[in-house]
Amino acid sequence: MGWDGQVALVTGASRGIGAAVARRLASLGASVAVNYAVRRAEAEALAGELGHAAMAVGADVGDAEAVADMVAAVTARLGPVSVLVNNAGIAVPGTLETYDPAAMARMRRVNVDGVIHCVRAVAPGMAARGYGRIVNVASNAAIGTALAGTTFYAATKAEVLALTRRFAFELGAKGVTVNAVAPGWIVTDMARGGMDAAAFAERVAGMAGRTMVGRVGAPDDIANAVGFLAGPEAGFVTGQTLVVDGGRLDYIGHG
Ligand code: NAP
Repeated sequence: MGWDGQVALVTGASRGIGAAVARRLASLGASVAVNYAVRRAEAEALAGELGHAAMAVGADVGDAEAVADMVAAVTARLGPVSVLVNNAGIAVPGTLETYDPAAMARMRRVNVDGVIHCVRAVAPGMAARGYGRIVNVASNAAIGTALAGTTFYAATKAEVLALTRRFAFELGAKGVTVNAVAPGWIVTDMARGGMDAAAFAERVAGMAGRTMVGRVGAPDDIANAVGFLAGPEAGFVTGQTLVVDGGRLDYIGHG
């Protein structure tokens, strides 16, 4: 089996990393469903750019019913989903001092429940057909980082890594692989986080200096890794986390 005939659903693909993943999978030959939460115009423009074998599809991944409807719409238009990329995510800053249970619940609903709902919506079909690729976009924050304010976001992404291994175990014998990519600091709206130009330039220089490659990441850096894990040739790779962070080494500097 090659890329032709593959149907990929990429969540949170209206911008940032998800949009780059959608472009990458389309360039490999897949039909692509571009999911969005609110930015319909951006998702439709991207689907238009990708051609006739693409569609935009709105759904809040935290809503199980909306996810089931989304998968039904994609199946009706493009065919059964063979590749799922769980990319949709939100980050709300928080530390022990500023912990806000409502913000934690909002993050968990998208970052964790969203992954569960989407996997549950596509896994039975993948298992019945004996083939599937699921890639979860986690974060290197889940593994270890000194970037202040990402404490609870990191916890949601650590849950994603646990689910990746457990889903891989549940689905492995059915021909379905489940892997994660853990991005480092990638320039997107999320990374900008409302910073002004000067603060952003300072952050870029700071984050670049923490990597072995001496630069910050671009959405395509993540899309290329997802393309490998989502491909037919990656069938013996499952339950893994591929860290794509330019060789980042953080250190504690309280002084
Ligand atoms: P982004 O620029 O903020 O884009 C987020 C995307 O997720 C948008 O397409 C957004 O759709 C969608 N989304 C948000 N909530 C959603 C929901 N409830 N249902 C469906 N879609 C939803 O973020 P990004 O930087 O590209 O991040 C993509 C993924 O990579 C996230 O999981 C993030 O945690 C992870 N990540 C990012 C970085 C980084 O440095 N950027 C590092 C590590 C991990 P709308 O446009 O319609 O709102």
